[in-house]
Amino acid sequence: MVNPELAQHMPMKAEGSGNGAPVFSFVLVKLASRCNIACTYCYWFRDSEVYNKPAVLTLEAEDAFCKRLEEHIVENELDGFLVVFHGGEPLLFPKHRFIKLQEKLNAIEERTGAVIDRGVSTNAILIDDEYAAILEKYGVAVSVSIDGPPEIHDAYRIDFKGKGTHADTLKGIENIRKTGMEPGIISVCNPSTDPEKLLDYIVNELGVKGFDVLPPDATHADNPPPIDAYFIKLFDVWFDKYSAQGVRISTLDAMISGLMGGQSCSDTVGYGPVETLTLMTDGTLEPLDVLRITGNGSTKTDCSVLLNSIEDAQKDPRWAGAYKASLGHCETCRKCEYLDACGGGHLSQRWSPDNGYDNVSVYCQSWKNIFDHIWKRISPTLVLDIKQPEAPVQPAAN
Ligand code: SF4
Ligand code: SF4
Repeated sequence: MVNPELAQHMPMKAEGSGNGAPVFSFVLVKLASRCNIACTYCYWFRDSEVYNKPAVLTLEAEDAFCKRLEEHIVENELDGFLVVFHGGEPLLFPKHRFIKLQEKLNAIEERTGAVIDRGVSTNAILIDDEYAAILEKYGVAVSVSIDGPPEIHDAYRIDFKGKGTHADTLKGIENIRKTGMEPGIISVCNPSTDPEKLLDYIVNELGVKGFDVLPPDATHADNPPPIDAYFIKLFDVWFDKYSAQGVRISTLDAMISGLMGGQSCSDTVGYGPVETLTLMTDGTLEPLDVLRITGNGSTKTDCSVLLNSIEDAQKDPRWAGAYKASLGHCETCRKCEYLDACGGGHLSQRWSPDNGYDNVSVYCQSWKNIFDHIWKRISPTLVLDIKQPEAPVQPAAN
C-alpha cells in the first residue's frame, strides 16, 4: 500500500508478471538512509541494517536504477510510472544531485514517452526556498508529516537534542506554499492525546481540508496501547463538526467505504496486496519499507539494480513472501464480520515472532470497536434509492 496523498499520482498498472503480481508501476526510492531528526515512534531505525547502507543514494545505484527503470518501462510498454522519494529524510540528498536525478528522469520520459510522476515524503525541515523551487520546477508532489499543534507534535517529533521540530516543519510548509504548491499532510495518532486538537489544528490553523491520520506502526511484539478511543473520537468530531465543511480524512474514508461494501484499501486498513518495491541507497531492491519493523535484516534481499532488472525483485523470497502474506488472512480474520472493511489491518500490524504474518492485526480489538461505532453512527443516515436498485447505498447529507 502507498501513502494515499501520493496514490492519486499512481499510473494504471500493467497486467500479470511472474508470481501473479502486477508489473511494478511504483518504486519508493530511498534517497537517504539517515534522518535529520529522531522521532520517538520511527520504524525506520528499528532495523539496524539501515546503518550498513550508504547515507545517501550512491551515484552508481542512481545510474543503475535509471537504466533499469527505462528498460522496465520499454519492456513492459508502460505509459506511466510513479517514483516516491523517501528516507530517513530524503531531502538530506544534496540539491545538485536531486536536480540531476530529475533531469535523468525527464530524459527517460522524453525517450520512452512515459510519464514519470514524482512525490516526496518529508518532515519538511530542509525545505528552504531553494529546495521548494526545485520541487516545484520538477513537479514533485510533497507530502509532509506533522502531528498536530506544537504541544502534540513536539512531544514525539524531536531532534537529536530532544527539542521539538514543529516550528521547523511549519517553516518548510510555508516555503512550499510560497511556490504555489499545496503539500499533503500526514499525521500519526498518539492515543494519549486529544484528536479534536489535531483536527482543529490541521483544518483551522493549517487550512487543510484533506489529510490522513495513521495509527502508530506496531507489531504483536510491541504490545501497543489501544487506539479505539482515539479513532472513535476522531470520527465523531469529524462527523459532527467537519464533514459538512468538506473535510476528508483518508483513513476514515476507507473505513466508511469498506463498511458500505466498497473499496477500503488504505495505508491503515483494508484489503490490498503489498506490491511496493523499495530501492535502498546501495541499489538493493526490498519489499515495503515499513516491514523492517519486524526485525533486523527482515527485508534484506540479494536483488540489486546493479545486477538485476526491476522485475527480478518479484522472484526474491522476501518480496514474494510479503506479497503472498498480504493476499491471505488468518482463520480469525476470515470469519470476521469486518473483514471486508478491515482487511486484517496493515500487514506490518499482523506480524508476531511466533506466527509471522498469520495473525489478526495487533489493533484487532480496537478496529472492531471503531468499525462498530462508525457503523452505528452512519447506518441511520443511509438512504436506499429503490428506484435504482443497482446503485450503491449513499450516506445522507450530514
Ligand atoms: S522524520 Fe521520518 S525517518 Fe526521520 S525520525 Fe521521523 S519518522 Fe523517522
Ligand atoms: S477486526 Fe480483527 S479479526 Fe476482524 S478482520 Fe480486522 S484484524 Fe481481522
